[in-house]
Amino acid sequence: MSNRQNQTEVILIGAGIMSATLGSLLKELVPYWRITVFERRGGAGEESSNEWNNAGTGHSSLCELNYTVEQPDGTIDISKAVKVNEEYQFSKQFWAHLVKSGRVPDPRDFIMPVPHMSFVQGERDVAFLKKRFEALSTNPLFPGMEFSDDPGKLKEWIPLMMKDRTVNQPIAATRIETGTDVNFGALTRILFKQLKDQNVDIHYNHQVKDIKRAADGLWEVKVKNLGNGMTERHAAKFVFIGGGGGSLHLLQKSGIPEGKGIGGFPVSGLFMVCKKPEIVQQHRAKVYGQAPVGAPPMSVPHLDTRVIDRKESLFFGPFAGFSPKFLKFGSMFDLITSVKLHNLTTMLAAGVKNFQLTKYLVQQLMLSKEQRIEALREFVPDAKGEDWELVVAGQRVQIIKDTAAGKGTLQFGTEVISAADGSIAALLGASPGASTAVSVMLEVIRRCFPQHLKEWEPKIKQMIPSYGLSLVQHPELIQDIHISTAEALGLGNRTH
Ligand SMILES: Cc1cc2nc3c(=O)[nH]c(=O)nc-3n(C[C@H](O)[C@H](O)[C@H](O)COP(=O)(O)OP(=O)(O)OC[C@H]3O[C@@H](n4cnc5c(N)ncnc54)[C@H](O)[C@@H]3O)c2cc1C
Repeated sequence: MSNRQNQTEVILIGAGIMSATLGSLLKELVPYWRITVFERRGGAGEESSNEWNNAGTGHSSLCELNYTVEQPDGTIDISKAVKVNEEYQFSKQFWAHLVKSGRVPDPRDFIMPVPHMSFVQGERDVAFLKKRFEALSTNPLFPGMEFSDDPGKLKEWIPLMMKDRTVNQPIAATRIETGTDVNFGALTRILFKQLKDQNVDIHYNHQVKDIKRAADGLWEVKVKNLGNGMTERHAAKFVFIGGGGGSLHLLQKSGIPEGKGIGGFPVSGLFMVCKKPEIVQQHRAKVYGQAPVGAPPMSVPHLDTRVIDRKESLFFGPFAGFSPKFLKFGSMFDLITSVKLHNLTTMLAAGVKNFQLTKYLVQQLMLSKEQRIEALREFVPDAKGEDWELVVAGQRVQIIKDTAAGKGTLQFGTEVISAADGSIAALLGASPGASTAVSVMLEVIRRCFPQHLKEWEPKIKQMIPSYGLSLVQHPELIQDIHISTAEALGLGNRTH
């Protein structure tokens, strides 16, 4: 081990929102632990976490129709909506703690209040939205949600979307004032800056090439310094693989049995962006619609007010597509090199099962700008091509694995994969994503540091008062959390 450059308690691979969050949580819990970070890009938050690469929605189920499922008996199952909302409350509480403790100077650099809305057309979808509204608005997690099927009211709420619209079928929307737009790129950079200030050793332009268990039980990470081409070796007791789309390859290299039999299915994304103030100022909301038939749930179209560097713009999309890359700045060989003997049959089964989806994604990729503008006109009837530019978004690598539902099943959630002894963990998958980073990283801590949990819990509860509790069963706590996080995060005098 003489050629090891460095030995620390923790190595974080990747400088996205997940590593930023885990590093920040650990620094709060055990400030004296030494943490090293390796990132292949020149800075933090340049892949999916970057503000131009994701939609910036603080996912809390206020508007995403796919989180509430209509059951065969016509009732609405809101369990996923409740789960995602409770997870987002974790994030808001931790961010509020960071603001109150001075680690994050100004919350307006990363979070803004933007109403969340769902918008549907046609009798069937209007009936669904009404039932969804009835199921959510009586739940204490969703106070203040409004429903309207009156075109006049919708004109007030979403003037840009109602201008020049021919209303020849039922139309409806829900609106909740207390939604958020989150600049996850800015947040990632802020968190890495504060980690650096707390002596975390951060190496940009360093690509992790291999991860192996050394004879002394530590994990040894082989890293290429992309600046000078030299190879370095670093070791740690615990490694977190937060490589986003790059995590699957690294998990495979670690050789842990828990990482076997898992594959990845990359989905690319494109946004149409409008920066013209005279158009931008006519819309202030994140408005989610229904996914088109055959489309995957993560390609639900939405028209969003975004606040980036304190400037407002409108994002429409994401248009999903197919690309074999696992990272935006990845390689065309990512998909093929992720196929190993242990996941071959799983991948083949997924290939057969998802032929229609792949065909749909390839077709989406081939759409011309005019065809994309046509899709946008469902939301903005008088949209003109010259007002909107195309922006390439991040890659989302969906998990493929064998489940009770069958071999090679495509999963749309995120999943923590960890070694039985808790010495290494990876995060795979892409949804609900950055919004739930705090809850997902607390799951990593729960699984990988069980021996410290009892000692750490009081501090976790101090930072995140709802930790370990079901908020739906504690309505009094919901109110407290909504008020205190809104105050700390500058979200106004709000109930959410
Ligand atoms: C189109 C789109 C829309 C989305 N919309 C939303 C949304 O509205 N709300 C939401 O909450 N989430 C959204 N998400 C999901 C969210 O962006 C991701 O879940 C989140 O950013 C993932 O963070 P991460 O840290 O895991 O990955 P990333 O941000 O991708 O970071 C991983 C980092 O690891 C680095 N890396 C990879 N391999 C290596 C290696 N071998 N060595 C060193 N470094 C490496 C990469 O360069 C990268 O910087 C969206 C994603 C996409 C693509």
